[in-house]
Amino acid sequence: MDRYGVIGHPIRHSRSPDIHRHFALLTGQNLSYERIEGTPDGFETEVVRFFAAGGLGLNVTLPFKERAFALAVQRSHRAQVARAANTLGMTPEGVLWADNTDGEGLVRDMTLNLGVNLKGSRVLILGAGGAARGIVQPLLKAGIVQLDIANRTVVRAQTLVRELESLSNEVSCRAFSWPEIPAHGYEVVINATSTAVAGDLPPLPAVLFDQRTLAYDLGYGKGLTTPFLKLAREAGAGQTEDGLGMLVEQAAESFYLWRGIRPPGAEVLYALRAACH
Ligand code: NAP
Repeated sequence: MDRYGVIGHPIRHSRSPDIHRHFALLTGQNLSYERIEGTPDGFETEVVRFFAAGGLGLNVTLPFKERAFALAVQRSHRAQVARAANTLGMTPEGVLWADNTDGEGLVRDMTLNLGVNLKGSRVLILGAGGAARGIVQPLLKAGIVQLDIANRTVVRAQTLVRELESLSNEVSCRAFSWPEIPAHGYEVVINATSTAVAGDLPPLPAVLFDQRTLAYDLGYGKGLTTPFLKLAREAGAGQTEDGLGMLVEQAAESFYLWRGIRPPGAEVLYALRAACH
């Protein structure tokens, strides 16, 4: 049976095996997908061993995405922008390749599952860590006109914005510290900080949100909301969404890279949401 898996540390809570098994069932693909507990000292050896034993593809999650990128020989453009990879595979010639499907997953969830038209949108990303890096390139390609990045440590936002300037002439990009966030409407506000669980977000200007705003949290959990989404809803955001759809769609994009078949992300998302209720 064709063998795939996800490697991370810790890995036992990963939902990727469920998602990929759904995909395999719905597309009639005969494959196995396992959880692999990576070790901080042995990640590279574990990846090499997996492919040497005939494995065909790996998803990579925290804290190994940067190391996966460094290990690969061929790297997609979006992985280069992110400097991190969440998908590994092997060419027929035996060359390890790396891609990053997180941003494509986000854009597909927004446009296909949520029906959002990103063309002409002004977008604010809160956070400038690995997840923010992973989503910027596909967002720039989605027809938006403004991309602002605000981060607690402003220098990380400034560095990312400087790198983006060489990627797009059409989209205006700016960096802000948290207190400098402009108090005007964005069509899309994305929480890409790691505060979804603890909820220790600094105060955001309430005027950031209105009826036209989509507030999107990359985080997701057992419940149907996160502290960021609660705050956005109370401040008047018209639409609030968590990152479960992105999780499913980034997995769908990985599946497509490995198998050449696009699985029905919306159907699997619907099943996962139903299981949460
Ligand atoms: P990371 O590289 O560790 O970056 C963390 C970011 O959060 C940084 O910008 C950091 O700011 C900021 N931050 C942390 N604590 C903060 C606080 N108390 N107040 C304000 N800002 C704070 O983490 P990451 O890999 O980017 O992950 C971010 C989130 O995205 C995680 O919740 C992860 O689960 C989620 N994610 C979801 C998906 C999906 O498929 N839905 C995919 C990837 C990631 P500083 O720079 O100032 O430290």
